[in-house]
Amino acid sequence: MCTPPKAPVVVEAPKDAVERRVTPPLSPRSRLRVTRGEETRMPTAHGDFDAVCYTETNSGLEHLVLTRGDVSTAQAPLARVHSECATGDIFGSRRCDCGEQLQKSLQLIAAADAGVLIYLRGQEGRGIGLNAKLTAYALQDQGRDTIEANEDQGLPVDARRYDAVAHILSDLRVDAVRLLTNNPAKCEALEALGVRVQERVPVLTAPTPENYKYLRTKQDRMGHRLELD
Ligand SMILES: [Zn+2]
Repeated sequence: MCTPPKAPVVVEAPKDAVERRVTPPLSPRSRLRVTRGEETRMPTAHGDFDAVCYTETNSGLEHLVLTRGDVSTAQAPLARVHSECATGDIFGSRRCDCGEQLQKSLQLIAAADAGVLIYLRGQEGRGIGLNAKLTAYALQDQGRDTIEANEDQGLPVDARRYDAVAHILSDLRVDAVRLLTNNPAKCEALEALGVRVQERVPVLTAPTPENYKYLRTKQDRMGHRLELD
């Protein structure tokens, strides 16, 4: 758990981001606020990072942010916006490639002069929650793909929002990034929030028999650039 901030710092949305959010109309969640906690050292298998927790004031969601080097002075530092996936990140589930992407991203950021990883909580199963994600897995075992399994439950294919990311990067004085992702839609979503994505840096993983269909669907139906045959 993150240490509660002693003197919470309310991070406002970047000015230019607010202006750029005029279209489409602001949703209530676009006006969220985050508070920054204490910074501490976080030694990992990939090297030392600085860790800090940002808490959304409305939802109480706590996002973990690991930085390497001085991201405020770096020109477009490497950045990974990683959606929480307990099954993949913690337990190494082979149904997805999240855990491998997380480790690879940390490795790449650790090797760079400066970089940041934002671990976004509350985004299980592309935002549908852990219970619905496991139900979706059961549906996939009956032949549905990762999109159909969400739709069968009356849930969106991708419910993730990245509002908090714009606030966090603004607080870190980062206005442009080289984004570690295979998902061009994530670049567009961040750009729409005022984050300049100077470059998309692929995080390719080797497919396994267990996740091949999942990755194939992401490539064929969701526009992910995975370089699968
Ligand atoms: Zn996953």
